[in-house]
Amino acid sequence: MKTFYRKELLLAPGPTPLHPEVLKAMISPMISHRTQSFQDLYKEIEEYLKELMHTKNQILLIPSSGTGGLQAAVKGCLSMGEKIVVASNGHFADLFSRLAASNGMNVVDVPFPWGQPVDPFVIAASVKEHKDAKALLLIQNETSTGVLSDIKTIVTEIRKVNKEILIFVDAVSSLGGTEFRLDEWGVDVVVSSSQKALMAPPGLCIMSLSDRAWAAAETVTCLDYYFDIKRIRKEANRHMTLTTPAVSIFFALRKSLEIIFNEGMKNCFGHNKALQEMIFELSQSTGVTPLGRLPYASPTVTALVVPEACDPEMIRNELYKKYSIVSGPGLGKIASKTFRIGHMGYVDRNDIQMFFNSLTEIISGPRARRPK
Ligand SMILES: *Cc1c(COP(=O)(O)O)cnc(C)c1O
Repeated sequence: MKTFYRKELLLAPGPTPLHPEVLKAMISPMISHRTQSFQDLYKEIEEYLKELMHTKNQILLIPSSGTGGLQAAVKGCLSMGEKIVVASNGHFADLFSRLAASNGMNVVDVPFPWGQPVDPFVIAASVKEHKDAKALLLIQNETSTGVLSDIKTIVTEIRKVNKEILIFVDAVSSLGGTEFRLDEWGVDVVVSSSQKALMAPPGLCIMSLSDRAWAAAETVTCLDYYFDIKRIRKEANRHMTLTTPAVSIFFALRKSLEIIFNEGMKNCFGHNKALQEMIFELSQSTGVTPLGRLPYASPTVTALVVPEACDPEMIRNELYKKYSIVSGPGLGKIASKTFRIGHMGYVDRNDIQMFFNSLTEIISGPRARRPK
């Protein structure tokens, strides 16, 4: 077949498919990032994001992937050797733990079973035990297992035992796909990025800090230039970035946020949730099992446990070779029995139906089997 006709169906949990209007927005003529036009663009994105996160805090837009924001949070708010507690229920929590340790932090991992959300009472007990911990990291949506944790309840329990600890939330694969209330929940640092539920291309990190987090940053000598949040804030005060950003991604993100708000935040969240429900229903007859169970199943990504005799990598290869469907690999210690699909960004019911039609055929065939 001519490759010309080959259309990929991108169901990876990031980057996610782009709406045609978002693609179009990126072919705008280039503008300088030191102009009023850029400041207006920044301001518009900031206003949308404030509404999306329900916050009055300033929004930092950093030219980097999401990981850059996590690094900036650690290096900006903490000093070397300080203790940080990580609620660890999946691969992305593990990655963060390594990131913090490699930046000289004293990391305490509090393990939870993979496929389960963070238990608010268990994590609060750990925070109580580690009185000297300066920060806690939570992942709102564990992208490796497809599990959403209840940030509101967790923060409520944490505050009963420690009023001062800085609460960092990684909302990389959840912001835009599910509710986030920064001020009301009392989160100190939130980090997200452009390429997942926000339906824009990769390349832009989104971050917001509470007054408490900024006060902590004031006491820290940041040993970084590019990710120094104090420098970044100075530029953000005039709606600019510290260095030359990927300006095209700003155009794209403004458009995707405009689309989200035209559709209505609630409707977008409902759409993702409905896709998750559809996946659960179609899984039953296909022989795969979603790892994250209700009511904590993620509305934006599902990890599918494959039948014992099958190899998830073989299934993924076949999905791609035969049907041009791009899925995500299993990650960490569950890599050999799971693979993942994203249902965030510009994904609809037909895409999910198409995925399951293809999966049903492949899983019953010989090529899905684990090599003996
Ligand atoms: C994708 C993801 C990251 C990493 O984001 P990058 O933009 O690839 O740096 C971190 N945390 C979670 C929960 C993610 O889903």
